[in-house]
Amino acid sequence: LAQLFRPLDLLGMVYRTVRQGLIDMDAMFNLIDTRAEVTDHSGAPPLVVTAGRLSFEDVSFAYDAERPILKGVSFEIPAGGTLAVVGPSGAGKSTLARLIFRFYDVTGGRILIDGQDIAAVTQTSLRAAIGIVPQDTVLFNDTIGYNIGYGREDAGQAEIEAAARGAAIHGFIESLPDGYDAKVGERGLKLSGGEKQRVAIARTLLKDPPILILDEATSALDSRTEAEIQATLSTVAARRTTIVIAHRLSTVVDADEIVVLEAGRIAERGTHRSLLRKNGLYAEMWMRQQAEAEMEEA
Ligand code: ATP
Repeated sequence: LAQLFRPLDLLGMVYRTVRQGLIDMDAMFNLIDTRAEVTDHSGAPPLVVTAGRLSFEDVSFAYDAERPILKGVSFEIPAGGTLAVVGPSGAGKSTLARLIFRFYDVTGGRILIDGQDIAAVTQTSLRAAIGIVPQDTVLFNDTIGYNIGYGREDAGQAEIEAAARGAAIHGFIESLPDGYDAKVGERGLKLSGGEKQRVAIARTLLKDPPILILDEATSALDSRTEAEIQATLSTVAARRTTIVIAHRLSTVVDADEIVVLEAGRIAERGTHRSLLRKNGLYAEMWMRQQAEAEMEEA
């Protein structure tokens, strides 16, 4: 009987994690062997990433037919560019990221990578091209080395350490009595939010994907840790096509383009400066967050 219930437990865990937001999808697809309702077309070719241009063409999406979540969203991120998506809670920001990973199929429009519709290529090739630094990283009950090496199966110890250095977590790992062999997860070492994010960054560095999704944590890290993580992320994002799902506007100031999503539609778009000049929703959100930050300091 226990055998029968184990898959149910796992599904419950997966469901809870999905509900929390955009989780480590790479990890999750390996935890469950089902591919949700998404399937490859027979004879689908692999995705061939030449430059890494990502475009949304009039994309619509609904989890339930009666309730549209995204309504005709279009944008283009040139190869190596950074697009930030901001907007009120529930606007559809994380949903947008889930669609790029093809966790669900769009209900209208197309998502293209270098001109190829992501629904027409194999899921394996698509997911190999995308790295996600999620809000909440799934850690396995295994060593910290395994948890980083998970980013690329054939990685050797030297590569794992190089990735850990890039994510600024090598020093921390070296300070553990068992180093890279230290056990983490439920039955081992508990990592802080910032340390978990660094594991996710190291995994991503190891995977070295041309396209990167950064889903900013909603739960605030302390401001010093956050600034340090932010600096690490900027280096990871350089040269890669990056989409940042941002909850704090201070992290999007340098984005090439910012898209303000409101109730599933793009309400405003532009650079930080042009959006401030517009004096609309973004400017209002910016003022509010500035005021909040000042209150906190005081
Ligand atoms: P936040 O800033 O709070 O993270 P968000 O802009 O990322 O919000 P999404 O997580 O994309 O918003 O959610 C958009 C809408 O879709 C919300 O109303 C949410 O309740 C709904 N939604 C999200 N996931 C599911 C799901 N798996 N099934 C049904 N509805 C969902």
